Amino acid sequence: MSTENVCPVCSSTDVSVFFEVSGVPAHVGLQWPSRDAARHCSKGDIKLAFCNACGFIANLAFEPARLEYMQAYENALHFSPHFQGYAQSVATRLIERYNLYDKDIIEIGCGRGDFLLLLCELGKNRGVGFDKSYDGEQTDSRATFIRDFYSERYASYQGDLICCRQVFEHIDNPTDFLTMLRRTIGNRLNTSVYFEVPNVLFILRDLSVWDIIYEHCSYFSLGSLARVFTLCGFDILDLAETYDGQYMDIEAKPRNGSSNSGHDSWDDLKEMADYVTAFADNYRTKLETWRCHLKRIEDAGQRAVVWGAGARGVSFLNMLKIEDQIKYVVDINPRKQGLYMAGTGQQIISPESLRDHPPDVVIVMNPIYKTEIQQLMERLGLTAEFLCASG
Ligand SMILES: [Zn+2]
Repeated sequence: MSTENVCPVCSSTDVSVFFEVSGVPAHVGLQWPSRDAARHCSKGDIKLAFCNACGFIANLAFEPARLEYMQAYENALHFSPHFQGYAQSVATRLIERYNLYDKDIIEIGCGRGDFLLLLCELGKNRGVGFDKSYDGEQTDSRATFIRDFYSERYASYQGDLICCRQVFEHIDNPTDFLTMLRRTIGNRLNTSVYFEVPNVLFILRDLSVWDIIYEHCSYFSLGSLARVFTLCGFDILDLAETYDGQYMDIEAKPRNGSSNSGHDSWDDLKEMADYVTAFADNYRTKLETWRCHLKRIEDAGQRAVVWGAGARGVSFLNMLKIEDQIKYVVDINPRKQGLYMAGTGQQIISPESLRDHPPDVVIVMNPIYKTEIQQLMERLGLTAEFLCASG
């Protein structure tokens, strides 16, 4: 393996490592059947590098072999009414904008297939979903599910829309992946392509540091996302921050010919370089602030719970190395309840179980769900101080 740092997108060696953390759980999406198993889960290192030439950010310490997507993989987002509402509005917009009625839709990395089935139902479309971890029925009345990674061997499946949500950031060579996708589309130039990825500015600018996870080896800004799509043979139709700036979505069409421009309107290289430079200090300050909060809680003899057993909860607990200081993590997803958090080993419990372990402080991992959580606490007759882990 080369010891030189090279950008996986543009091959430049002008890359700066700006963030390192070692021994974080390799799978933030896996929960474990015992505290011991959770604390001994597979771990990896994070070494984020910024490419000064194209703005792409990669985890140079990423080793794909540490990740095996298993059927136990659990994505909590689909259980939140807020996220479901968002998915519904995206599906409706795509159907109307691209006239997707009685058409064929491919989803790469479809998870349990909720979004694909939504697109199929709303526009009476036919769907094919690819996901290595898919564990449901292989056919539905509207969609077929293929338990595999999408690749060129599936080029015979044609889609009027190809969508790919929350997947691209897991791919360690985005250029190879998009070039492969462009080849499989071939001369079907009417194909629309929709990708949704986390917005790295939300990490750098809004200091949502718990969003840095081992499974995400690739981090994009508007500028670097535009650049990689353009580089790989797509014309960009729309590109914007979405979901309160946490995500970005891009709509693109396969380009006919080789012109390689059109990404300049999203150029943010200078701005990104400034955020990257400030980030290491900001991260240290943030950890220090949380250590103070936790010490205050402990000194007062209070009990804190973390609300949200997803990626952010795992990062928060592991980056702060919280083990016995916090005993429980609350999650509304019944499939996670009773299991244990990767790395630090807290048990995951239902909101109702809080009646038996009433907390003094609730640490909310995602502020977007704060109102939902407060309402749930009120219904349970519980009161507590609320802290937002991202604020
Ligand atoms: Zn680069």
